[in-house]
Amino acid sequence: MTSPFDETALPELAQIRRLIEPANPHLQARVLCEITTGGQRLPVHAIALGNPDPALPAIGFFGGVHGLERIGTQVLIAYLQSLCARLPWDRLLHQQLDQLRMVFVPLINPGGFLRRTRANPAGVDLMRNAPIDADESPPFLLGGQRLSRNLPWYRGPDSAPMQAESAALCALVEAELLPRQFSLAIDCHSGFGLADRVWFPYAHTRRPMRHLPEVLALSEILDNAHVHHRYVVEPQSRQYLTHGDIWDHLHVHAPHVFIPLTLEMGSWLWVKKNPSQLFSRQGMFNPMVEHRQQRVLRRHAAWLDFMARAAASHALWQPHGDARDVAEQRALARWYSPPERR
Ligand SMILES: [Zn+2]
Repeated sequence: MTSPFDETALPELAQIRRLIEPANPHLQARVLCEITTGGQRLPVHAIALGNPDPALPAIGFFGGVHGLERIGTQVLIAYLQSLCARLPWDRLLHQQLDQLRMVFVPLINPGGFLRRTRANPAGVDLMRNAPIDADESPPFLLGGQRLSRNLPWYRGPDSAPMQAESAALCALVEAELLPRQFSLAIDCHSGFGLADRVWFPYAHTRRPMRHLPEVLALSEILDNAHVHHRYVVEPQSRQYLTHGDIWDHLHVHAPHVFIPLTLEMGSWLWVKKNPSQLFSRQGMFNPMVEHRQQRVLRRHAAWLDFMARAAASHALWQPHGDARDVAEQRALARWYSPPERR
């Protein structure tokens, strides 16, 4: 099959195609939208597996929102490859899939990947593009700006519709995740800090989100099941506020329990261990040494699998009634008390 895009310039998109092109009765793949840039037509692929029954929980895995952060897409492709390789023989995986819907959009911004830019080909930062404003002034530029598409963190023109990639992502989440009583979303990024962080909403306000007890319960089952994990779980607002966060936008309108998490893989450690990466645009956001890249792919696979199991079994750990009130108080003390009392 001839490819409409240059596979050497976009190896991750080629990998996704190789996963979905062989007929596989367990996978449903479709193209959410197509982005045209540099004379190439680039598809945004969605891949679903598991039970579509809307009465069941779902988990969505998302990556490649930012074109420089390739490692997030690579982590998701590695996880998806592992699932596909296990489908022919893994009975326990099929039991999980009987009780869970899994959806993947591993490469949301193929134009940014091709052009090696954080933004999409229109210069818009897809993580600043949703119609939601911060309720206090976020950091200058970083928090999202409408001054110019030539500056980073551009939100897009005022009152314009969302970019095609953002709109397609919202439509998928609204169709596959939000109608369910319980859903999780994992959006994989890199580039912030030394530690691997797991951010939950909100980014537009310092106010607590309404599913705080569920987030606390989820982080506690992670702490108990993976005692040596190093993820720092916190609301994004503890680091910085932004305009236009797509997960805030989706969460605000979610009718049921919806927990969108952003995995921010700490890339500064990769740079610290290999300072020459500082001089490479890709190097700030991706491990450049092969053994380090492999370690990153391995480490997060366990966490992604844990999250899928947690979604499938949410009824067994989700707090209710008085326990939910207690969890809320503990979550407020853990994440929202003033710094001196932390
Ligand atoms: Zn990012």
